[in-house]
Amino acid sequence: MVYNAEEEITDPMKINRPYMAHELTDETIIELLQRAVQSLKMGILCFDVESRLIFANKLAFELFHEDQEEKLREHFLNWVESREIKDLSANWCQEYEHETTVSLYDVTCQRIFNRNYQVKNIIYIIDDYTPDANVSAGRTYREMHDPLTGILNRNGFYREVEKFLKEHSTSQENYYILISNIRDFKLINRIYGDQKGNSILKNNARILSNMLYPSDIVARFYADKFAAFIPERDFDKPLFHNVINLMQSQMGSGGNKLRIQVGIYKVQPEDKNVAQMCDYATMALNSIHVEDSLTVAYYEPAMLEKAMTEKEIISGFEEAMQAGEFKIYLQPQVDAHSRLLGAEALVRWCKSDNVIVPPNVFIPIFERSDLISKLDRYVWELSAKQLETWKGTEMEGLYISVNISPKDIEYLDVYEIMLDLVEKYEIDTSKLHLEITETVLMSNPVKVNQLIMKLKRLGFLIEIDDFGSGYSSLNLLKDIKADVLKIDMGFLRETMNQERSHIILDAVIYMSKRLGMETVTEGVETEKQLHMLTDLGCDMYQGYLFSRPIPVKDFEKKYFMNGGKTCMDNRNVV
Ligand code: C2E
Ligand code: CA
Ligand code: CA
Repeated sequence: MVYNAEEEITDPMKINRPYMAHELTDETIIELLQRAVQSLKMGILCFDVESRLIFANKLAFELFHEDQEEKLREHFLNWVESREIKDLSANWCQEYEHETTVSLYDVTCQRIFNRNYQVKNIIYIIDDYTPDANVSAGRTYREMHDPLTGILNRNGFYREVEKFLKEHSTSQENYYILISNIRDFKLINRIYGDQKGNSILKNNARILSNMLYPSDIVARFYADKFAAFIPERDFDKPLFHNVINLMQSQMGSGGNKLRIQVGIYKVQPEDKNVAQMCDYATMALNSIHVEDSLTVAYYEPAMLEKAMTEKEIISGFEEAMQAGEFKIYLQPQVDAHSRLLGAEALVRWCKSDNVIVPPNVFIPIFERSDLISKLDRYVWELSAKQLETWKGTEMEGLYISVNISPKDIEYLDVYEIMLDLVEKYEIDTSKLHLEITETVLMSNPVKVNQLIMKLKRLGFLIEIDDFGSGYSSLNLLKDIKADVLKIDMGFLRETMNQERSHIILDAVIYMSKRLGMETVTEGVETEKQLHMLTDLGCDMYQGYLFSRPIPVKDFEKKYFMNGGKTCMDNRNVV
């Protein structure tokens, strides 16, 4: 060890000469360390396992306005205990109030272990983020910083980038704005707990602050989104990929990799508004679809157009609801003898100018907000009402399947709503089938499972939708007792692996029978597929071979006139 204590050391023999390791006695080391700790610009407090304060440097006394050890101990421990976000992390930011001043301290907590891996001491390192602490400095700091990670917040990011661009207004340099997102972060919080979630966010902040260049500006934009402003000369792709890799591999060797997605906007010379630049980067980020393996997307002008269309769709929602423009179309489900059993309700937006908008245009947009729940609730009601109007007619025995979105579980009391609907329209619960996808199940497995069991007890039928299109389909069957398995149409697609698809279909149908579930295969388009599925023992079929989704009136006309027997036709183009 080489340590230059310089003028701090009183022994004249040792002034201006480095210590050599062999010259150091234990006492000298302790003395040197104490001097170093005393002169640090950070407060240090060391406790033993019984919370006795065994050491505190001068600054620690000053930071907490105490001059006696016991008072400092009590004051400090009370303060640490009072923090709002109590996580187990080793670093956090915390406000400290003294008389009329509010300061912000960054706290690092480290545990020292003995040889038997038992905690021996706990050391707190306090960094004063508000050196000239007065109320206004504290407020400005808080307005610009994120209390969890200690880095800039969105507001601070806007201000710092604006300042940078003003100061470099004559520069010819190009800049990039990046916004990152953690896929399914909510799910991670649910599965691993908020503490793990918080620790991931803090790590991300550290990775960004430590790995990028000092001139880059980084911020926690909001929630799990981080932002970075990077001059082109620093925009080093290998480094950038390293940063993403580091962020992705935080779950430890046993956990899955986090999926980080990044939207990038290249700042144009005429750009002045930082919020607008961030909107562009966000548009690029939003262009990465849930199922994409893509991690990075650059902004393209077409995205602005798309965002405008999205805005239009969202702003048109309420009016369309009022005007009754959302209608259900019905697609039949039949048995192996082509007998009609029921139908799936699929929504269409029938605009006043006779344009019929298919659901894949607006459902994914509504799914980003609570609008999907308003729409679904309406579709469930239309379906229940339809079942009521069929009572006493030849259609009486039919069921209607409705779709449930992940957000419905979050925003709605699905159980109460379904119960109200069957009471209001006096319909049999078994006539309303509820289609639930894997994403719904994964969004909150415990809650959804309880909901399913409650609904089943009332006699509702539960169908697992799009089975085989997600990641963990098999695992999910272990815990969820559904009545029907809807096999995804992907298995019927013409592929190079036809034979393997066939083997999987065979096994899935066999397995669901053993688990006491009926099977529906979706997307049946040809007679050949129908025969193959019948041979495998599939119970029900849905697909263009029988009918596309059609308006309720056409559905009634088609089957009512046909005595409940389907005709093979795929001419009913929607
Ligand atoms: P989904 O629930 O998997 O519905 C089946 C989709 O497959 C329907 O598309 C249907 O028209 C289509 N389809 C049926 N048979 C065939 C076939 O033989 N070949 C092919 N290529 N496609 C077939 P649609 O009506 O466009 O709906 C698309 C998706 O939109 C639905 O997929 C569902 O996820 C969503 N959706 C539709 N209506 C609602 C709703 O009311 N609420 C919610 N949350 N989602 C809905
Ligand atoms: Ca469905
Ligand atoms: Ca489906």
